[in-house]
Amino acid sequence: MPLPAETFDLLSFIDASPTPWHAVATCEARLQAAGWKRVHETDAHWSCAPGDRAYVVRQGGSIIAWKGGTKPPTEAGFRIIGAHTDSPNLRIKPQPDRPTSAGCATLGLETYGGVLLATWTDRDLGVAGRVTVRSPGEGMAVESRLLRVDQPLCRVPNLAIHLNRGVNDSGLILNKQTHLPALWAMAPDGDEGGFRKWLAEELRVDGAAILGWDLCLFDVVPSTLSGRDREFVNAPRLDNLGSCHAALTALLNTTDDGSEGTALMALFDHEEIGSRSTRGAASSFLGDVMARLVGGSVVDLAQAKARIFLVSADMAHAHHPNHPEVHDGQHAPQLNGGPVLKSHQEWRYATDGESSAVWRGLCADAGVPCQEFVVRTDMACGSTIGPIVTTSLGIDGVDVGNPMLSIHSIREMCGSADQPLMIRAM
Ligand code: ZN
Repeated sequence: MPLPAETFDLLSFIDASPTPWHAVATCEARLQAAGWKRVHETDAHWSCAPGDRAYVVRQGGSIIAWKGGTKPPTEAGFRIIGAHTDSPNLRIKPQPDRPTSAGCATLGLETYGGVLLATWTDRDLGVAGRVTVRSPGEGMAVESRLLRVDQPLCRVPNLAIHLNRGVNDSGLILNKQTHLPALWAMAPDGDEGGFRKWLAEELRVDGAAILGWDLCLFDVVPSTLSGRDREFVNAPRLDNLGSCHAALTALLNTTDDGSEGTALMALFDHEEIGSRSTRGAASSFLGDVMARLVGGSVVDLAQAKARIFLVSADMAHAHHPNHPEVHDGQHAPQLNGGPVLKSHQEWRYATDGESSAVWRGLCADAGVPCQEFVVRTDMACGSTIGPIVTTSLGIDGVDVGNPMLSIHSIREMCGSADQPLMIRAM
């Protein structure tokens, strides 16, 4: 059976987006191509007239885009889909050149988020992110440039099994300070690699012009489809670029559908480190944007908020066929079984009986199957942006996501049939 175009498009979206800043740039390019205009938080006036299409970016890593409904937000509210642009990874320290060891130059790394560390060993790792340089002209102004080096540049080599005999019984234990530095060059004694010099050459700028960076390692191997009948997607960053792609595609698909409510997509950075940042889901970003789109008084904004429904989309744990013991059998969604509704009675997800009913109804109307996830009662539950956004803004919502395996691995896995189903439901 031919696979849906949305699944192939998901692979392109992910491969184009090795970092949160690239993910935002990928979204921007697609929005602009479809007629969305960029506005800035420094602008005085924004408009949310019927059919208006615009977006705003905060600090490169978070983006909010909207399409005005036929009625103003005070009367018809917002229909919001939220997701996150970041994924766990390894990041390059500000002074990365370490003393040469065994003739090799290594780069000092930090972990970002809950990295499944063992999966990052023995990979072909490129470097991507943003580098900040001084802008020409007077005064202190800087500009950030996206960087992406696709060549295999770094590697965190495993210890041979002969030198770590117990590894298959005890698991791979890596000390984040001493075992993670990435090999990236041979270096004679005294030459410590010169990462900044290399970076300057890549960017074709003077080394002294580089004032800062946010640089990540990523697997240079492109995403693939696998399985006998290509049932599976093998890709990095499915958590949560899978949901970003679905949200963006759903927004772009809202052609002049005559909807009364304003359609809005909010993609936040920093979920993997708790969302508490100036551009994370716990920030003022979404509230600020809504206040400007509503205009008017505090009462107008409160009126609009009372008419919001948020779909917070983040990938869900699928039933692992080799580890059935970690699941609640009645609430263990399957790959390729459709979107998952996530609930938790202690508000790790922003779903309750009423909001879940809305989502189930929406799925039924769209002809999309709906699966359920509840964590085992004797296990701790993960969380995501849904509880944070609904709590801070006082709005209604649900947490959903497509089922997947290997969450937070450098190479994750989901079903190839689920992406179009989520897009349709959204
Ligand atoms: Zn996530």
